[in-house]
Amino acid sequence: MIELDLQPFTLPGLDTNRPIVIAGPCSAESEDQVMETAKQLKAQGIQIFRAGIWKPRTRPNAFEGVGVEGLAWMRRVKQELGMYVGTEVANAQHVYDALKYDIDILWIGARTTVNPFAVQEIADALKGVDIPVMIKNPVNPDVDLWMGAFERINQAGIKRLAAIHRGFSTYDKTLYRNKPQWNVPIELRRNLRNMPIFCDPSHIGGKRELIGPISQQALDLNFDGLMIESHITPDKALSDASQQLTPETLELVLDKLVLRDSKASTEDLKDLRKEIDRLDDSLLEMLSERMRVAAQIGQYKKDHNMTILQTGRFDEILTHRAQQAEPLELSEKFVREVMTSVHEESIRRQNAILND
Ligand code: PEP
Ligand code: MN
Repeated sequence: MIELDLQPFTLPGLDTNRPIVIAGPCSAESEDQVMETAKQLKAQGIQIFRAGIWKPRTRPNAFEGVGVEGLAWMRRVKQELGMYVGTEVANAQHVYDALKYDIDILWIGARTTVNPFAVQEIADALKGVDIPVMIKNPVNPDVDLWMGAFERINQAGIKRLAAIHRGFSTYDKTLYRNKPQWNVPIELRRNLRNMPIFCDPSHIGGKRELIGPISQQALDLNFDGLMIESHITPDKALSDASQQLTPETLELVLDKLVLRDSKASTEDLKDLRKEIDRLDDSLLEMLSERMRVAAQIGQYKKDHNMTILQTGRFDEILTHRAQQAEPLELSEKFVREVMTSVHEESIRRQNAILND
């Protein structure tokens, strides 16, 4: 556990009932696009407007954001529509510019969180300022690096902090643009108990049709809010076109989300949970017994100078166990994963015996 000096992530008049929704285009592109998108989002009850002013792009010569000019449009959204506005900052100059234009919320992007020098530079620029800051996960699934960013910004005196889970890049092509690896934000929550966590289904999914299901998953995991990209004409967007929703579609997606109760009494689950505890006890006892037998086999292999790994035997176990999956109402994938993990532990045990 890391102790941070936090205050609730809130702003005057903000409806903090779950989920807090932050919406707006990937990038501010023109004054009209910003004003019109914001107007439509406000009509849907959105209170916080997002737009990227400086865009970290993978390749040069792509649209890299309109820069400072766009901050004036954001300020118009704030003044004329009474919305809160937020943007991404990646260096000290961005911080100074955003503050000059009264931006309400800053966030640090995934490509910046990976770089402690950049995060420290932002932290130094924020000294003496009281503004909510959100920190996206680093592009790689490294929870320590993510927490380090929170520590740096918090040490600069920023107390209203929140995390944004936007998934992790992978070399393999997957269903997702950035793999969610939900265990990483869950690990963050275990380490930073009071840290609000938002989900960014747009950058995780990379496609419109995934925004709903990913958002629902985040709510089921008790996330505090969502950051979703929305554009008046998504297909014409200068960045991230395939993942942006019109404000109208966004409303449909949000309306469908089911809110679960995280504070409901768990009294009725008491008996079932006892049953689970009992079953876990026997699972562990059986695993321990299995390892004892594996160790005996290890001793035999040592006495007879045999190799540990006999691939044929492992294949046989896997195939046979996988066939047992269906009648037991277990998924084959799950059984294979469990058996592979059990087998790995057996090998470790036998290795220790052989090299004793
Ligand atoms: C963005 O929010 O538009 C963005 C660039 O996100 P990320 O830092 O998650 O890639
Ligand atoms: Mn984007």
